[in-house]
Amino acid sequence: MEVKLENPQIKDWRGYKGRPFLISGPCSAETEEQVMETARQLAEINQVSVYRAGIWKPRTRPNSFEGVGSEGLKWLRRVKQETGMLVGTEVANEKHVYEALKYGIDMLWIGARTSVNPFTVQEISDALQGVDVMVLVKNPINPDIELWMGAIERIARAGITRIGAIHRGFSSYEKTVYRNQPNWQLPIELRRRFPDLPIICDPSHIGGARHFLHEISQKAMDLNFDGLMIESHINPSKALSDAAQQLTPNDLKELLSRLIYRSPDTSDPKLLDVLGELRQQIDIYDDHLLDLMEKRMKVAETIGRYKKENNITILQSLRWDEIIRKAVMKGKEKGLSPELIDAIFKAIHQESINHQMKVMNNGEKDPKEKK
Ligand code: PEP
Ligand code: MN
Repeated sequence: MEVKLENPQIKDWRGYKGRPFLISGPCSAETEEQVMETARQLAEINQVSVYRAGIWKPRTRPNSFEGVGSEGLKWLRRVKQETGMLVGTEVANEKHVYEALKYGIDMLWIGARTSVNPFTVQEISDALQGVDVMVLVKNPINPDIELWMGAIERIARAGITRIGAIHRGFSSYEKTVYRNQPNWQLPIELRRRFPDLPIICDPSHIGGARHFLHEISQKAMDLNFDGLMIESHINPSKALSDAAQQLTPNDLKELLSRLIYRSPDTSDPKLLDVLGELRQQIDIYDDHLLDLMEKRMKVAETIGRYKKENNITILQSLRWDEIIRKAVMKGKEKGLSPELIDAIFKAIHQESINHQMKVMNNGEKDPKEKK
């Protein structure tokens, strides 16, 4: 049975400083000095609702910096006392929850490596029974919306009302420029399933590099996300974790100033929201189509090089007939007309031949050799 969320609107959450609900601070608390100085500079921007810092760090490989542990919670408490910002950290087991609560931490989030595990999420939920604290649930590292919803429901069942989701992207075998694939259709679907649940985007862990943060943040705002979690550090290149993706507080301020907050100008904003989101989905699929086409042509060029080396003709019509026949059949099952499949595949085939021809006739070199 689906759990009904009774979430107050995010603008009614304590600490809310306006749209986007902004969470920022270092990936990891490293030293008291680094935590305090980053906090002072962020407090000056006056847009950060919650100051974040990782105290216990889940690292992919052992023997890297694994966080300062409970000592860092004292520094977060000091941040709260001296700057007035609320403070938050990641919890990955019940011990973390008890420790964080002991130091008055206002927001806990469940990391992507934890939300995959219902046993651990349940353990955290049990530790949160009857506690009044904000809890954000990051998407699991695999793109499984049910698992994400399940984790949120477990936290809701503990009686937590200020719950939000964090979209931080998904692991994939196929590497692209981003560190984690955004798969925007998943948070959009989460919004449809839990309409009252605030969704925060974490462009830092999606992009994995500073120069992607603005475009990802803008997209999240265009999709009407409620907030952003962006990692910041006084000296990003010296950070002990996630050095490539952190921003100085000043660069964060600059990024925020470049964000455009589009508001639907209609008497029925709800309707426009939905249309806007659907159009965004179409744009995302169109981008996928273009990426796929690019990849397909790269393979065609490799085939061209191979055929050239082995003196094979470009056109092998038997194989091509087979491809079209299969595509028309598969297309039918997906409700796509044979005319569409025929037209698309013929056009793609022609483009492939052109790419192969170019490689065979222009003596174009393997791009890898050019570097
Ligand atoms: C983090 O927020 O620093 C973190 C470890 O994130 P994630 O769980 O998304 O990898
Ligand atoms: Mn991080």
